[in-house]
Amino acid sequence: MKVGFIGLGHMGGPMCRNIIKGGHEVLVHDLSEAAVQACVYVGGIAGGSIANVADQVDVVMTSLPMPKDVEAVALGPDGIADNANAGTIYIDLSTNSPAMMKKIAGELADRGIVTLDGPVSGGVVGAEKATIAIMVGGDKAAFDSCMPVFESFGKTIVHTGELGSGCVAKLVNNMIAFTNMMAGAEGLMLGVAAGMDPAVLNEIVRNSSGNSMGYRGVAKSALERDFAPAFTVDLAYKDLRLALELADELDMPLMLGPQVHNVMRMARSKDQGGENVTAILKVYEAAMGQQVGPAK
Ligand code: NAD
Repeated sequence: MKVGFIGLGHMGGPMCRNIIKGGHEVLVHDLSEAAVQACVYVGGIAGGSIANVADQVDVVMTSLPMPKDVEAVALGPDGIADNANAGTIYIDLSTNSPAMMKKIAGELADRGIVTLDGPVSGGVVGAEKATIAIMVGGDKAAFDSCMPVFESFGKTIVHTGELGSGCVAKLVNNMIAFTNMMAGAEGLMLGVAAGMDPAVLNEIVRNSSGNSMGYRGVAKSALERDFAPAFTVDLAYKDLRLALELADELDMPLMLGPQVHNVMRMARSKDQGGENVTAILKVYEAAMGQQVGPAK
């Protein structure tokens, strides 16, 4: 299967390189030449443009920041819709809105292109180790035909149901993860404000019922004072906004999601949008005038 991969960032880069290492022929494209070269270095082929990639492959994948970026690459001028051949399968691996995926799929279907939504979970480390989960909504036969490609860069590969259901699963997962993370930030700040040694507190919580992946992430950033971006506040803020939009569509009250979204908004207002999502801790630190973890 000849694969096209567009968007070679924190997630797309390592995912793409694993597909190449899996023995597939892969045409790659990104706005960043350095990102393209990092894939060419392991055997990828520089596609040169979205149009050129889309025109030459059996399956074309995107891993892009925002829904509007995916829309532009899929439906915009010189995009996938105008250039992929009938019979091509298009898979968006970004965290996107179910509504946007249905809009894109509708327009691509008119040109004989099948769309799957396949968001991923497991972070940059999981992307590098090919241990990520891939949750895929849409046509089951298309999903089955792409399994050798999915297996080259993921471990837990689930067909979630109809188109858009992969996005729903991903938005739910991330809302839970960010809520856990904010609870971790709040708890760490409370303990340290009350005079506890953060390392001792962390030893307790990570071995007690307060433990979670979100908690461990924020505790690690706090103790190492490392907020370098692997998954940015900006992207997490986008994910939560999409979850809130979904709840709006369903008239469902969300109690926790909007609170976490607000804290992310506060972090963004302090120019922390480009930092790692664990930088939500700094909102609490600013309020308390005190840092969790050692000075650095
Ligand atoms: P990123 O910003 O690191 O990478 C995005 C890449 O897309 C960049 O290299 C950028 O140059 C490229 N790009 C943007 N517009 C383009 C265009 N028009 N044509 C070609 N290339 C273009 O983002 P990321 O962290 O890799 O996230 C990508 C998606 O995966 C997002 O939807 C995010 O929510 C999701 N995601 C991220 C993580 C994570 O841990 N970073 C985990 C799971 C899911």
